[in-house]
Amino acid sequence: MDIDEETIDLRSDTVTTPSDEMREAARDAEVGDDVYRDDPTVNELERRAAEAVGTEAAIYVPSGTMANQIAVHVHTDPGQELLLELESHIYRWELAGAAKLSSAQTRTIDAGDRCVPTPDAVAEGLVTEDLHRPGTGLLSLENTHNYRGGVAVPVDEMAAAAEVASDADVPVHLDGARLFNAAVALGVDASEVVDPVDSVTFCLSKGLGAPVGSILAGDEQFIEAARRVRKLFGGGMRQAGMIAAPGLLALENVDRLADDHANAERLAAGLNALDGVDAPAPDTNIVVAHTDEAGIPAADLVEACKAAGVGCVEFDEHATRFTTHRGVDDGDVDDAVERIGDAVAELSA
Ligand SMILES: *Cc1c(COP(=O)(O)O)cnc(C)c1O
Repeated sequence: MDIDEETIDLRSDTVTTPSDEMREAARDAEVGDDVYRDDPTVNELERRAAEAVGTEAAIYVPSGTMANQIAVHVHTDPGQELLLELESHIYRWELAGAAKLSSAQTRTIDAGDRCVPTPDAVAEGLVTEDLHRPGTGLLSLENTHNYRGGVAVPVDEMAAAAEVASDADVPVHLDGARLFNAAVALGVDASEVVDPVDSVTFCLSKGLGAPVGSILAGDEQFIEAARRVRKLFGGGMRQAGMIAAPGLLALENVDRLADDHANAERLAAGLNALDGVDAPAPDTNIVVAHTDEAGIPAADLVEACKAAGVGCVEFDEHATRFTTHRGVDDGDVDDAVERIGDAVAELSA
């Protein structure tokens, strides 16, 4: 999609561009060869990121997908099962990476609107290794849950699911691409969300506004293993301080995520008021508009919105995702609602 300046781009919070401050930080960053651990800016980012989520260590990686895939690779042995939610990002949007990169067999649990499996569902999903069965190598959870609409999963529900796996000596990973959105929405420190799990992914490049990069965090031994796998997957970077410096500034953008959440709520209310559109109030910055009732396919809505000057993405046959971020304010949201309203009216006619 070509995005012109007048378009209100709600496709994703990944569309944010670096602030002037981030660009200056990139230019002025102290750098070295990070594969030799010689980049002071990357080292500082990894230290600060670990501190922010309450883990012993962290590693800077190019993307959230790589962070998740490294975690799967480190935690599982080839042929083991990866237990995860049916609509989770790792299962749905990562090109079968667990199968291709780690020879993991996936087993899914449909957690529905709850987004995190119940303890009973986890217990049922865990497989014990024997003559015929491979054994579960990892349980993966997701918070916020992207596909189910940026849902902030309560920490006690996450902890209950994680405890069942931990009791069975199965490690637990959290795909927290939008971990800080969850923490802000739940009103807790990110470290509380991470406390029940063994490793966590979060993205600097989404609502936090960095141009590039994600973090994988966990204990020292895990991160040491992750460093080798990052190299294996082609993610060993050299003077990466150039892109890590904006990441350090991104870590200071946590509080502003509340603005994105307020704008998403405003957007959902506006969309929900349109005839034939069902847009539930969101927990965080992701609004999903359902148009089954109006009989409008999401693909058509995305096209019509594009023509009307709003960027959004098709999520399912009749579900369209709109994401708020640093690049849009409440006035943009009101304009977007008007434009989307025109698009819906045209498609309903
Ligand atoms: C965006 C996202 C990822 C992947 O991040 P990339 O940096 O785009 O690879 C992983 N998990 C979830 C839940 C996401 O929303």
